[in-house]
Amino acid sequence: MIDCALVYPTPSLDSPAKGPALSIFYPGVVLEKSGFEVEYSDERFDNRQHTEKLIKNSLVIGVSSMTGFQLGEAQRILKTAKEINPNIITLLGGVHPSMLPDQCIRESFIDVVCVGEGERTLLEFMKCIKKKKSLKNVKGILWKNNGNIIKNEKRELVDINKIPWPVTKKNRHYFKIAADASQIRLLSSRGCPHKCRFCYNQIFNRSTWRPMNIKKLENELDAYISEFKIKKIILGDDNIGPVKERIKKICGLMEERGITWHTGIRCEYITDEIAQTLDKSGCSSLFFGVESGSNRILNEIIGKGYPGGVENIKNCARIMSKTNITGMYSFMCGLPTETIKELIMSMELADWIKETDKNARISFYVYAPYPGTSLYKEAIEQGFQEPCTIDEWTRITLSSERNPKMENLYYISGLNFRKDKTGQNFPGLKRFSIKPFELSASLRWKTRITGFYWEKRIIKYLLAKASKGD
Ligand code: SF4
Repeated sequence: MIDCALVYPTPSLDSPAKGPALSIFYPGVVLEKSGFEVEYSDERFDNRQHTEKLIKNSLVIGVSSMTGFQLGEAQRILKTAKEINPNIITLLGGVHPSMLPDQCIRESFIDVVCVGEGERTLLEFMKCIKKKKSLKNVKGILWKNNGNIIKNEKRELVDINKIPWPVTKKNRHYFKIAADASQIRLLSSRGCPHKCRFCYNQIFNRSTWRPMNIKKLENELDAYISEFKIKKIILGDDNIGPVKERIKKICGLMEERGITWHTGIRCEYITDEIAQTLDKSGCSSLFFGVESGSNRILNEIIGKGYPGGVENIKNCARIMSKTNITGMYSFMCGLPTETIKELIMSMELADWIKETDKNARISFYVYAPYPGTSLYKEAIEQGFQEPCTIDEWTRITLSSERNPKMENLYYISGLNFRKDKTGQNFPGLKRFSIKPFELSASLRWKTRITGFYWEKRIIKYLLAKASKGD
């Protein structure tokens, strides 16, 4: 009998990344090291039969999910679990239930919701389940007792330096897939000290930034190198952090080992000195949350906190253009109170960045309002229809159908700027099927005509077909 099956649902339709599912492996390894029998299913690589086999033989199934497409998959898995093994205890964790625990626990197919980080919570929960003890003292969960919903005390944030390296015999093959695809991910820190008003960090990490100490980072890095012979690593941090000296130390570790790497950083942290250090260390790409080309949106609406507003973004692109690093500049559209003029300012800034930093990769995503974040109220005032169930939240994605005009921009900008991604979604001869739509997207982008985007239906059809391998 398996104590706990941990499942990672497919996160998106279009070419999901192959990085390890850290959201199930970090808590899973803590359970394994405490003697629990744990099995994993990552539905990007395992078929549904594998998950179902685990369900039939497990005491508990834990599923991790973000909002949107993955949530729809999580819902299917948890419902299936209750159908084929009515005695199984179903637990939902991850970002979505952490933002909306009260709504999630109301679903009949969910017995327990894990709020925030799962490492200690899942361990204490499983100890109680195995010993048939009450769950009343397990911090960080919502659960049902004879039909009554019980909300336990909040869990304190974990000490990132006490979490074990997440590779075990049971999950090693997933890390091998990631290593072969150069997508091994490591979190060198959790959270972010900034307070952007749309960001999950306000709730999930309580606006704190917790760095891993450099020695532990070095050990984990070396473990990946020796175990998988990796040449590239992704530091999947939300924000590598504001501490210049720490960034330099990380650069030193990478350079000494000849490792190519990627991470996320804020635009205003990029100075000539930092950019040169990053470049020299083998950093191949950096993610920047630019969000908008309008200072009003940046300052008044989303609280991005760039001291110099758009000028910080432009300065970052200028500096990046002198390096070999690919800058990945991410915009958001459909923000509360955003006007057409401000949207065009974002498009103009995207063009300016591309013109300045020739290697730039630009993406536009649709703003997805999260309850609990300080921007949520404005989103409701602006007409955002609050979803009442998990099923309704499955439709709130970063390419969101609920906002068709902004969804147009997501596809148009993607086809215009992200030819690399289109190539991944439509490899080889399949590329010819999408080529006319790439051309029409470029024309639409140039003319700023994003309405009446009839092409979108065909593009989505082609994408769905390509994702199934047809
Ligand atoms: S800087 Fe990025 S990670 Fe930090 S709060 Fe803002 S959006 Fe979130």
